[in-house]
Amino acid sequence: MALSFASLDRWRPSWTRPRLACQLCGAQADHPRAPICNGCQADLPWLRASCQVCALPLPVAGQTCGACLKRPPAFARVEAPWRYGFPLDSLITRFKHQADWPHGRLLGELLAEHLRHAFDEHLPRPDLLLPVPLAAGRLRQRGFNQAEMLAGWLARELALPVERQWLHRERETPAQQGLDGAARRRNLRQAFALSARAAAAGRHLALVDDVLTTGATAEALARLLRRAGAARVDVYCLARTPKPGD
Ligand SMILES: [Zn+2]
Ligand SMILES: [Zn+2]
Repeated sequence: MALSFASLDRWRPSWTRPRLACQLCGAQADHPRAPICNGCQADLPWLRASCQVCALPLPVAGQTCGACLKRPPAFARVEAPWRYGFPLDSLITRFKHQADWPHGRLLGELLAEHLRHAFDEHLPRPDLLLPVPLAAGRLRQRGFNQAEMLAGWLARELALPVERQWLHRERETPAQQGLDGAARRRNLRQAFALSARAAAAGRHLALVDDVLTTGATAEALARLLRRAGAARVDVYCLARTPKPGD
């Protein structure tokens, strides 16, 4: 069996190691430790001005959107580095539906980087991470829970504990696409349960999911946790969808 270059690299001192290839386009990365090149970094749809509660893209930074003002969510804050758009949407789809681990992991690491920066600037560190659960049927069908994989990568990168058994999805909810906010909330109200051994009281928890769309799932879970006494619930996700039509 031929030795791969990767295995030879292990025997070289780090300063002579060649730069890694960008994980998105394959070009030589600009920084020895950066997983993607500057060009690809610039092409990602970074979320700049957004609602300071739910991260909905807005024209001006530092504002709260109309929906959050009218009906303050049970979660305190959504942290998302990107808006859901090209090329991130196809990366997330590949991760979710084709079990593309390398790209999923890359996105997880970039999200960890975003959160590390937020912890330094303004965001209180949570006590633990809770992946948004999948119903058993969906889990069997897909073979893995992408939110749980993301939470695992974040836990490692940020040295935070993760609890995979606290939240349960009791039943399959019909596809949420095409439903309005009120219908989604109704749909979700009975879908989730908290395990008897969950100790949420007084704790700062962070839900982890891949994409935040209307926020109805996050709202249902945050409400459940707040009712169980959680001091604060945040939401960490890869991407936030813009308002339909934006
Ligand atoms: Zn690149
Ligand atoms: Zn909002």
